[in-house]
Amino acid sequence: MPELFDVAVIGGGPSGCLVASALASGGRRVVVLERRRADAVEPCCTGIVGRPYLDCIQPCEDLVLAAARSAVFISPSGRRLHVAASVDQAFVLDRALLERRLRQRAAAAGAEMVEGVLVTRTSVSTDLCETRVSGPDGARTYSSRALVIAGGVNPGLLRRAGLLPPSKHMVGAHAEVEMDGVDETEVYFLSDVAPGAFAWLVPMAPGRVRLGVLSASSVAQVAATFLARPGVRDRLRRRPLHIAQRPVPVAVSRRMHGERVRSVGDAAGQVKPTTGGGLYLGAMAAVAAAAVLSEALARDDLSARALSRYETQWRSAFGGELRRGALARAIYSRLSVGHVDGVIELAARTGVAEKLLRSPSFSFDRHSGTLLSGLLRCLPGALLRPAGRQSEADS
Ligand SMILES: Cc1cc2nc3c(=O)[nH]c(=O)nc-3n(C[C@H](O)[C@H](O)[C@H](O)COP(=O)(O)OP(=O)(O)OC[C@H]3O[C@@H](n4cnc5c(N)ncnc54)[C@H](O)[C@@H]3O)c2cc1C
Repeated sequence: MPELFDVAVIGGGPSGCLVASALASGGRRVVVLERRRADAVEPCCTGIVGRPYLDCIQPCEDLVLAAARSAVFISPSGRRLHVAASVDQAFVLDRALLERRLRQRAAAAGAEMVEGVLVTRTSVSTDLCETRVSGPDGARTYSSRALVIAGGVNPGLLRRAGLLPPSKHMVGAHAEVEMDGVDETEVYFLSDVAPGAFAWLVPMAPGRVRLGVLSASSVAQVAATFLARPGVRDRLRRRPLHIAQRPVPVAVSRRMHGERVRSVGDAAGQVKPTTGGGLYLGAMAAVAAAAVLSEALARDDLSARALSRYETQWRSAFGGELRRGALARAIYSRLSVGHVDGVIELAARTGVAEKLLRSPSFSFDRHSGTLLSGLLRCLPGALLRPAGRQSEADS
């Protein structure tokens, strides 16, 4: 008789491990199926989070490499907007260690961690879920009462389980680079290179910087163009040998649960559409998913209706934030280079960004309202400038 798990979790990334930990510590029989072994984890992620994420993964002091309370935003033509808060707003994590730590915690809570296996097939019937994996020891099928898909953007896997992938995604690129003179986070709007694209440089230690790029297409080309830019190129000690890439969802899935199955984290598109950051939203979703699943398992009611509470709760907590973020992103991706310059120039000149940053509703993880309101305040002035007009400072 094959072993029957309460829950099989596909993907031992941050979201999958948090769901598994919460369920296993509640006494559920959980198996996590992950294709990468812990010693081969190579995250394609900058690892910046706000304090609520740290609270969620406590204790975690040894995971924090750096803290940030200021950043500079740079327009395509080099106009700069500097913002600074009075307390640390963001924390840069040792991302590989985070992933290993969350796996260890899931295992310590009682989840069975099966690493180095690729999930090749799933089937969800009215009374059972079956997940087929292939690994060094051959193929095997895991049976479970419920299935959590936390395998990132993986449309085939999601559709086969009756769910929908996030409806929109961009592509992110990541590298650790040796670079001088990056003392605070620098965010570059790259609408001159590709519509809606941006890049960031985050200092981790003296001379060591995390580079991130987000673009709807040709991210490798966008990253190369960015690194060749004056002001960036001359501070690089050497060009990165490898730039990792992966899809970043920027819209929530329209179906993230069904009978016996649900998606969590990047798989469900639970990512900030403004920045592509998904650690915090994935963690919040993991906690909510585990609570609803736990109750559904106890009642032996794993119907789509019972599991829909997860989606309803999650959307009521974060739906507004995501909608505002998506609107801000849509506006940005339609702005001309001159208009982006204009917005940055006006925000710097009027002090609107500093004012908004000090408002009690702003936080690193819930920033889309502040961002949208700053954008909408500066946009009319920027739109009145002819696209491409040079500022007085340039003339
Ligand atoms: C360049 C870049 C920078 C980023 N920077 C930040 C940041 O600073 N802050 C932030 O909050 N977020 C950031 N993100 C996003 C963040 O990395 C993701 O939101 C987060 O990793 C999502 O976690 P997850 O567990 O949902 O998915 P993932 O991290 O994608 O984990 C999915 C796991 O599933 C496994 N898997 C997939 N398919 C299979 C399969 N078929 N069989 C077995 N296992 C499988 C994968 O190996 C992986 O371990 C960034 C993303 C990119 C691309």
